[in-house]
Amino acid sequence: MRAARLLAPGDFRLVEVSRPEPGHGEVLLRVLAAGLCHSDLHIVDGELGDDYRLPLPVTLGHEICGEVAEIGPGVSAIESGRRYVVFGAVGCGACRYCRSGRDNLCVSGQTIGRRRDGGYADFVVVPARALLPVPETVSDAEAAVATDAVLTSYHALLAVGRLRPGEGVAIIGVGGLGQSAVQIAKAFGAVVLALDTDARKRALAGELGADAVVGPQEVCPGVALLDRPVDLVVDLVGTAETFLLAQDLVARGGRIVLVGLASTAGTLRISVAARNELAVLGSAWGTREELATVLDLIARGVVRPRVETHPLVEILTWVERLRAGTVEGRVALVP
Ligand SMILES: [Zn+2]
Ligand SMILES: [Zn+2]
Repeated sequence: MRAARLLAPGDFRLVEVSRPEPGHGEVLLRVLAAGLCHSDLHIVDGELGDDYRLPLPVTLGHEICGEVAEIGPGVSAIESGRRYVVFGAVGCGACRYCRSGRDNLCVSGQTIGRRRDGGYADFVVVPARALLPVPETVSDAEAAVATDAVLTSYHALLAVGRLRPGEGVAIIGVGGLGQSAVQIAKAFGAVVLALDTDARKRALAGELGADAVVGPQEVCPGVALLDRPVDLVVDLVGTAETFLLAQDLVARGGRIVLVGLASTAGTLRISVAARNELAVLGSAWGTREELATVLDLIARGVVRPRVETHPLVEILTWVERLRAGTVEGRVALVP
């Protein structure tokens, strides 16, 4: 079968490998769609530092929707032929984080598409406990991107950011995650400011319901961009510049949630942060329970992920387009 594998830092390509077999507690999925994520670029380029050092070679792809092709021993309650999404942050199942439902913080987890083979392939083997059934009205591609592009935004806004109705929320970066974040924040009663350097993405954020849309150069400390203070800033980019931008935007007593992984370091204006009681919070992916909620939100039309599908053989082309910033929504690859 075909698989897009990271063979060495910077060496990512489609190769032929043998089809894997499900072991105990595992399931073989025929991949129906796998979402392309910006974090894959940072992984391919080796930019994420030691925390993200991967066992190579590995098949990337952590946003997966598939159909059950084979069920390994010791698996129950999984139906052959049925569509499932993969909760990619699935942990060891035994540590204190996993036992409290916070698999995304597991220190010995086998993150799918990073620490074990993922979904840029014809087939993928995953632990059965990573699977959640896909509602009938949700497409393969929507289901795939739900697992990260939508889940990560939901977790950042609701679980980490503790968004309350009526708050002013700034979303920095309106690519795949940001488009979900705008829709979720609006659905939960926020007044939303969207920021992006790209005019087309700004226009799209407006179409998705953002109350105000600006470029980063339009942000000046003390100049109001919404009719209320910005209580919550979600930085989906994560450069040193966007971290400073977040500090310019946030109101006294506000929260900054860091999601994007573009830089390993940035500057916190310590005296301002202390005086203004700012909270700077990290947010990583989401939980299995939240993924079930996110699938329901998509099924009910509360969130509509913008996703285009392309054949798996074109993966390197789409990696380059994502790198060049010319992909407007999310791309899902179909084997
Ligand atoms: Zn991702
Ligand atoms: Zn664990």
